[in-house]
Parts: sequence; structure tokens; C-alpha cells
Amino acid sequence: MSADGQAPLVLVVEDELPVLRFLRASLAAHGYRLAEAQSGEEALREAATRVPDVVLLDLGLPDLDGLEVTTRLREWSGVPIIVLSARGQERDKIEALDAGADDYLTKPFAVGELLARLRVALRHAARGASPEEPCVETGELRIDLAARRVFLSGAEVRLTRTEYNLLALLARHVGKVLTHRQLLKEVWGPGAVAQSHYLRVYMGQLRHKLERDPARPRYLLTETGVGYRLAGD
Ligand code: CA
Repeated sequence: MSADGQAPLVLVVEDELPVLRFLRASLAAHGYRLAEAQSGEEALREAATRVPDVVLLDLGLPDLDGLEVTTRLREWSGVPIIVLSARGQERDKIEALDAGADDYLTKPFAVGELLARLRVALRHAARGASPEEPCVETGELRIDLAARRVFLSGAEVRLTRTEYNLLALLARHVGKVLTHRQLLKEVWGPGAVAQSHYLRVYMGQLRHKLERDPARPRYLLTETGVGYRLAGD
């Protein structure tokens, strides 16, 4: 439910009719309300007039590209944006995330994946209006942001300051992908955005401490070529 008690309104921006039909049917079947646009300019108009709760934005549009739509939306709106990308659009997808998109789906995607991403985006948007949660729990992992302490199955796990800062950042965005650039900038500073090996090293250490099988992580998920995500429940 959105703030006014109605079902959430999803603005679908997509020029491919088969994908549009799939989204229409899936979203309607799960109780979402729908607004539609088939070009970038139409998307910006619809976003301003309909004020959606979340935007599903195809990156390849006939007029503006999805990156430009993201940038222009972000000039005045904090609405969650989930970009829809085709294979081979990795670079566009990462640029859109760095420009302020919240998440992405790679086509073709399943309904379950779509609904999970929508739930996370709407939850983060709802939380944006209220203070941060002091404690983030997912599975057996508990991150107490207020006390800066981490517990696994009830037992405290000792982390270094950098390990903790990295985990806490992912925890504040639980369920949501963060790009390499975003993680490096927040944890190590703007001068470190090209140092992806920092992430590999520290993610390896965190997985070693937190994952039962570090090679097949349950919590600290790799988004290949994009970044990392802390799995939500
Ligand atoms: Ca397209």
C-alpha cells in the first residue's frame, strides 16, 4: 500500500510491446496499479503528472535513453527507479545505477524476480520518510547499526573497521544492489572509485567470517560486473 492507502502505482516505461504486455499482466495480477509510457519524454510527463510510487524504466528507448531519463527524474524526484536492461547493456545499467537508479532487472526476467525488486524498492522508499532502522536482520545475520556490532546465529562476529563499514553500508540498503563505484566511494572515499581490488579483498574477508560456504554466499551476493547486494529475507 502507498501512503494514501491505495495499491502502489507503477510507471512502466517500455517501448517493446511484448515486454509491456508481460509487465501489464504480471503487475495487474499482483494488485499493482499501472501507468505507462513508451518514450523518455512521455515517461517524464507521466512521472510528473501521475506521481508513481516506483518506476520501471527500459534503458533502450526511441528518444532519450534511460540514463538521461534517470538523470532528469533525479533533478526533482526521489521515486525508486528500477532499470530494465537487455544483455550487452552492462555499461548503461551501471551508469544508470551511479546516476541514481535504485536497482535493475536483466531481460528476460521472471515475475518472482520483478515482484521481489518492487517490494525492496517500495520498502526503501517508505523508510526514506522515517528514521533509519537501528538493526538489520537477514537470515541468521544481525547487524546492529546503533551499537556497531554484528551477530551470526546469536554469536558476535569481530570485524575490522573497514569490514564493518562495508557491511553496514550494504545493510542500510539491504536487498538492493550497490555498484562498485558507490561502495568504493562511500567506504574508501572518492579517490578510491577505481580500486575494485579493495572490494574483492574485503568482500572475501567478510564472507570468510559470515558465510557458511564463502564460495557459495547466502548473504553477500555478487552482481557480476555491477557490484554487490546483501540478500534480504
Ligand atoms: Ca527498448
